Amino acid sequence: MCGIVGYIGRRDAVPVLLEGLRRLEYRGYDSAGLAVVYRGKLQVTKTAGRVQDLRDQVSDRVHSTVGIGHTRWATHGEPNEVNAHPHLDAAGNIAVVHNGIIENAEQLRDQLTAAGVTLVSDTDTEALAHLIAAEKTDGSSLEDAVLRALRRVEGTYGLLVLDVRCPDELVVARNGSPIVLGIGENEMFIASDVAAIVRHTQRVVYLDDTEVATVRSNGYQTRTLDNQRTNKTPTTVEAEAGDYELGPYADFMRKEIHEQPEALRRVLRGRLDERFATARLGGINLDARELRSVRRVKFLGCGSAYYAGQMGAVLVEELARVPADAEPASEFRYRNPVVDAETLYVAISQSGETLDTLMAVQELKRKGGQVLGAVNVVGSAIARECGHGVFLHAGPEIAVASTKALTNMAASFALLGLLIGRVRDMSAAEGSRIVAGLRALPEQINHVLAQEDNIATIAGQFADAEHMFYIGRVRAWPVAREGAQKLKEISYVHAEAYQASELKHGPLALIDASMPSVVLVPDDELFSKNISTIEQIKARGGPVIAVTSGDLPADLADAVIRVPHCTPELDPILLTIPLQMFAYHMAAKLGRDIDKPRNLAKSVTVE
Ligand code: GLU
Repeated sequence: MCGIVGYIGRRDAVPVLLEGLRRLEYRGYDSAGLAVVYRGKLQVTKTAGRVQDLRDQVSDRVHSTVGIGHTRWATHGEPNEVNAHPHLDAAGNIAVVHNGIIENAEQLRDQLTAAGVTLVSDTDTEALAHLIAAEKTDGSSLEDAVLRALRRVEGTYGLLVLDVRCPDELVVARNGSPIVLGIGENEMFIASDVAAIVRHTQRVVYLDDTEVATVRSNGYQTRTLDNQRTNKTPTTVEAEAGDYELGPYADFMRKEIHEQPEALRRVLRGRLDERFATARLGGINLDARELRSVRRVKFLGCGSAYYAGQMGAVLVEELARVPADAEPASEFRYRNPVVDAETLYVAISQSGETLDTLMAVQELKRKGGQVLGAVNVVGSAIARECGHGVFLHAGPEIAVASTKALTNMAASFALLGLLIGRVRDMSAAEGSRIVAGLRALPEQINHVLAQEDNIATIAGQFADAEHMFYIGRVRAWPVAREGAQKLKEISYVHAEAYQASELKHGPLALIDASMPSVVLVPDDELFSKNISTIEQIKARGGPVIAVTSGDLPADLADAVIRVPHCTPELDPILLTIPLQMFAYHMAAKLGRDIDKPRNLAKSVTVE
C-alpha cells in the first residue's frame, strides 16, 4: 500500500518521481503528489486521481534536481487533494511524505493547535511537517530536527523530508514501513519499494526500523533514533526493470500465472538433493538434531499466504508426520497465543511487509518462539525480523491477487516437509518419490497453462453466476479456499469453499441450478468419494465444474478441467493453477480491473 519516491542528483527529478510513482501504482492508492525545489521555492502538485493525472498537472516549466513523491492509502482523512501528500509546515519550507500511521497524531495535532499552528489537512502526517519545522532551529541540521521530532512520535512510518533551505539533502526515516535507498553515480534514489527505482540502479541499502538517513547526491549516512551511527552494506537486488513490464500480456496477473513454471524452477533450484532424497534449505539454519526436535509446525499468514500455510500444514503432516496447522497471523497476534518452544513457526508473506504478520513475528520472538520467514522480497521487514527462512524467489509479483508467490510458498513447504520428514521416519525411497514429483511440477504446470482456452470458455459459460461453491477435501481443501478467495478478489463474484464431507451437514441446502460448484477431484484415495459428491450436487440440479487428474465418468460434470496426474501429496500445487485461470477469465469476462481489484492493495502494511 502507499508509496514513496525520492530523488537527489544531477537529472531532472520530476520525470524520475513520476515514473517511480507509476511503478508503485500496483500497490494500490487513492491519491498522489510530489514536491520539488524550483527557483528557491517548494513546488507542490497533488491530485486525488491517478499518477497520470499528476503528470498532467505538473507544469512543464518546473525542473529540479531534488524532489519527493507519494501515492497515498488514506488512513486519516478522506482521499482528497488537501489530504494528499506531500504535507508542508506553515512557512512552506519543509515537505514530508509518509507511509504508515502516527498513533499519537491526535495529541500532536492538539499540541500544535494550542501552540498556534493551523493544520490544513485531516492527516496524521501533517503534524510531522510542523513538528520538524519547530525543531529546525537555527544551526541545527535537518536530520537533527527530524530525529528530535520523531522522538515525540508513536506509530509507524516510512518518512521522506525535503527542506527548501537545504536542497542538497533529503532526510529519510523508517519505523515499520519499508524504505530503501538506491545508489547511483552521483545520484541517489529513495523508495518504499525497489520497483520504483530498479530501472535506475540495482545497488540498494534497506533501512532498518528506527533508522534515519541523510541522503546527498554523492552518498548517505545513517544513524539510529538514539543517535548511534550505523554502517550499512549495500546489496544488489535480484529484480530487473523488465520484471516490472507487462511484455506481451494485457495485465500482470496473467503474466504472473504464466511465469509459474519458471518461478517454480527458481524456488527449487539448488534445493533438491537427489543423492540423499531430501531438500536443502540453507536459509533455515537448523541442523538435523534441531529439525528432529521440532514437535509441531505452525504456519502464519494473511489472505492467500494463510491458505498457502494451510497447504503447508497438510504437506508437513503428510511428509514429516509432525502435527501442523495454519492460522491467520492477523488473529494470532491478538489472542495472546501460547508460544511453545518445540513448535517451529513459519511466517508467510509475499512482500515481507504485511503488518499483521510482522506483528505476529514480533510477538513470537518476544515470547521466545522459533520463527522462520517464508518471504518473497529479500531485505523486507519480515525477512530481517526472522533472520532465517526460505526466500520464495518468485520474482516481483505486481498483481494484487497472488499467483506465483502462492505456488512458490506451497512448493517451499513441500521442501520443508521433505526435509523434516527425512530426518525422521521418511524412507529414502519415499523421499526420492517426492523429489521426483517436485522436479516434474513445472512441466505439469505448463500442461495446465496450455488449457487456457478451455478454461476461458468454461469461465464464459459461468460468468453470470452470482454465487459459487468450491469443494475440496483434505489436501484439496486449502486449494478450494484459495480458489474461492481468488474468484472473490478479482471478479467480485461471491464464492464459498466447503469440504466435500461437510456439504450434507448444511450447505447442500443452497444447491440449485443457480449455484455452480467447482469440485476438485484429484486422482487419489478419495477419488470415488469425490465422485459421489458430484452426484449429490447433480441430483439437486447444481451445475458442476470438475477439476480432475483422474478418469471421470463421461457426462458426470457439466464442464471438466483436466490436470496431469501428479504425486498425490503435491496435487494442491497443481490444482491451484486452473482455479487462478478460471478466476482470471471470469474477471476478464466481467470487465474487472484485474490487477487492481477494488478496495484492495498489494501489501497490507496497515492494520
Ligand atoms: N497515515 C497517512 C495518511 O493517511 C499515510 C497513509 C499512507 O501510508 O499512505 O495520510
